[in-house]
Amino acid sequence: MFAGHVGAGLAIGSVERRINVGVFIFAAVLIDFILWLFVLFGWESVIIPADYTATHQPDFVFPLSHGLLAATAWSVLAGAAAFLYYQRLERTRFRPAALIAAAVFSHWLLDALVHTPELPVMGAQSVKLGLGLWQNMAAALLVEAIIAAAGLYLFLSGAGLSRARNHGLTMLCLVVIASTVMGMTVAPPPPSVNAMAATSLITIAAVCSLAGWLGRRPR
Ligand SMILES: [Zn+2]
Repeated sequence: MFAGHVGAGLAIGSVERRINVGVFIFAAVLIDFILWLFVLFGWESVIIPADYTATHQPDFVFPLSHGLLAATAWSVLAGAAAFLYYQRLERTRFRPAALIAAAVFSHWLLDALVHTPELPVMGAQSVKLGLGLWQNMAAALLVEAIIAAAGLYLFLSGAGLSRARNHGLTMLCLVVIASTVMGMTVAPPPPSVNAMAATSLITIAAVCSLAGWLGRRPR
């Protein structure tokens, strides 16, 4: 899932306009950013199965990024980092910090909706969770597109952005939705797991920066 996480970041960003929306989108995809970094470090693993072309679902062993306990810890850490960073907001900074923590944790909830039971509670051998909506890919992609569109709508209404920035953010969301749909339906298997990790890290950085730049409030 990618577009759905971007939508969650936009939706949460719509209730805290003092913080750039790129920060909320990055928070909503942080757990994947950690996963792909850890894959490059060799700390977590992703296997491209033989039936990848039929399912478009790699097999993940990712207790450090996507475990329920780990995701809770990353959420608390991100919230604490935001609380320390946004000194300028003084006594009102608990709210954005809590929202950033919520954005990080929203990732786990949305992943638990679509993944097959492969999200561990703690370690790699612990109970695994996942409602498996990806078994019905059309429904899963529809839900994801709706979350992205709803997030975009919530963010744009009341953002007071110029028409060009509105169009830019809308285009970005459409590209993200289209690439998510293609990635889960027609994309060929990635050449290697490391290539998949590098592409994912670059995509996350590019989408968050671009959304942050387009979503900047007029001064
Ligand atoms: Zn994820």
